[in-house]
Amino acid sequence: MRITGICAALAGVLTLTHGAGAEGILPDPSLAPIKVTATVDAAASSLRPKVRPVDANPDLHPAVFGVEDGFILWLDGFKDRARVAGIGERTLQEAFNGISPDPEVIKRDRNQSEFTKTIWQYLASAASDTRIANGKSALAAHAQTLDAIEARYGVEKEVVVAVWGLESAYGTYRGSNDVVRSLATLAHEGRRGAFFEEQLISALKILQNGDIPARSMTGSWAGAMGHTQFIPTSYLAYAVDFDGDGRRDIWSEDPTDALASTAAYLRKSGWTKGQPWGVEVRLPEGFDYALANRKTTKTPADWARLDVVGSDGRVVPDHGPAAILLPAGAQGAAFMIFENFAAIEKYNAADAYVIGVGHLSDRISGGPAILSGWPADDRALTFAERKEMQQRLTEAGFDTQGVDGRIGPNTIDAVRGFQRAKGLAPDGYASLGLLQRLR
Ligand code: CA
Repeated sequence: MRITGICAALAGVLTLTHGAGAEGILPDPSLAPIKVTATVDAAASSLRPKVRPVDANPDLHPAVFGVEDGFILWLDGFKDRARVAGIGERTLQEAFNGISPDPEVIKRDRNQSEFTKTIWQYLASAASDTRIANGKSALAAHAQTLDAIEARYGVEKEVVVAVWGLESAYGTYRGSNDVVRSLATLAHEGRRGAFFEEQLISALKILQNGDIPARSMTGSWAGAMGHTQFIPTSYLAYAVDFDGDGRRDIWSEDPTDALASTAAYLRKSGWTKGQPWGVEVRLPEGFDYALANRKTTKTPADWARLDVVGSDGRVVPDHGPAAILLPAGAQGAAFMIFENFAAIEKYNAADAYVIGVGHLSDRISGGPAILSGWPADDRALTFAERKEMQQRLTEAGFDTQGVDGRIGPNTIDAVRGFQRAKGLAPDGYASLGLLQRLR
């Protein structure tokens, strides 16, 4: 699977959405490291748990058989799969000796309440005064390292620091769970078993490679590790040994390898140095909101011909093809986003996260706050309300291609269709007001 999310950690909490008017469901940003959790990627959530012997035989189901016994059975089978994947006996021993499921992890996984935040609530925390100030301090404290990383990978240090700020509050919240234990617990529990088995195999490969001893491999309860919360598959794909000590150490106090790994990730995701992620823009009266979608790209000069200009009223400098993004629909801020937006998106695909990283990096660089207001009376829809909206849109003849509570491109298209039919601005924003109109 393509793991985008470094913090795929809290896989599944976040419903990902794309496109103008898309809205993410965000976890409680008052929780310290502000993260848009997620399995970010639809690919991750599309994986179904494999049927395992324990599941296939109801007599052996953990509920009947005891969690511990079920875990041991599962572990036996898993070890065989790990061996096939090239994991040796010594690593299996080191990883699983004396290990048991972690009830706390199961609790966290089952009790993920739906903290639904609007984009403006999310950004208030993502780019709070404290996080901006701490980002400036971090930038100064690690100037030499960050300059070297920027020179090597061609990713602005402010962007790397912004990711660090959102993922772990600059290393403050890296997680102290035993990652092997957490992943084994989640892989066995089965709700997203295939996803976590893949992470666990990857974690074993990291151990086998000698980067870290098993019991020092710590992270979030869902297996996101280190300063920038890499899940194991992301680690294997992108982590680098920048300080040259022979180990890719994203866990230690020293953030050097973790920050370089983050820059390497963004670089491989297509980051272009010197190009903004996006800029806030002004839309004219009578703007055709149907143009605000990820597929409609124009040069800033062409946008200017439609009277779409920067907050300062000037033509936005040309950084290549750009789309217009309205994270809160026609009533909120508008952004002109460039190809670098997609590079951050590969890290974590939630619009709110990408805007959060981008805007925090701008603020750390001394850039201005977002000028536009937001539809502050609005609130994010609950999962039940999103399903209801899809149901009602479909019944009204605007097919959302399914009722899953995820506001994706099909739902956004259906919303636009409904808005057009009602003479509303077709911004595709799935708001509470829209649901009320549907009722
Ligand atoms: Ca190292």
